[in-house]
Amino acid sequence: MVGLETGGFKNLICSYVIKGKKIFLVESGPSNSIPNLLSGLKEIDVKLEDVEYVAVTHIHLDHGGGAGTLLKSLPNAKVIVHPRGMPHLVDPKRLWPSSQNVLGFVSEIFGKPEPVPKERIIPVTEGTFDLGHGAKLYVTETVGHASHNLSFQESFNGGIFPGDAAGTYIPEFDVVVPTTPPPSLLGCGISFIR
Ligand SMILES: [Zn+2]
Repeated sequence: MVGLETGGFKNLICSYVIKGKKIFLVESGPSNSIPNLLSGLKEIDVKLEDVEYVAVTHIHLDHGGGAGTLLKSLPNAKVIVHPRGMPHLVDPKRLWPSSQNVLGFVSEIFGKPEPVPKERIIPVTEGTFDLGHGAKLYVTETVGHASHNLSFQESFNGGIFPGDAAGTYIPEFDVVVPTTPPPSLLGCGISFIR
């Protein structure tokens, strides 16, 4: 796990590194945190050219907003994303203003997303990726928080990366805080990328 220290906050937003024969990252985090992610990868001896996939659970800025910026430093990596999220990674012109509407000043802390080249995206709802040496990454569609939420499971330890599909665990209080439901359930007419 690489803590991104977005906005100076520790233990808030992280990326995960799965080191098989191929290297997988789960979550790019927001674009303003990419320098922290890159220095974290260096600390754990990950060569940038060895990263094969960046899997984002969904495209909200805190999870996948930095994918375009990150890919500029990862010459061989492709992004795994839900097909409903793909158009907003290729062209974030709607994602940014709608994020600003919903998140306010927090969107500026996360940073503006940069586009991801279409040919570097793998859209998927269900599937299995081979990490080499018999290790796998399983992808499952888990919509609810967002219509484009995927969950990933790795076969080394059975670790699951649900994005915002399963709430946020706060260890200090030993509670799980539910993430927001889709805006259509809020009934407040927010125009957000669901
Ligand atoms: Zn989210």
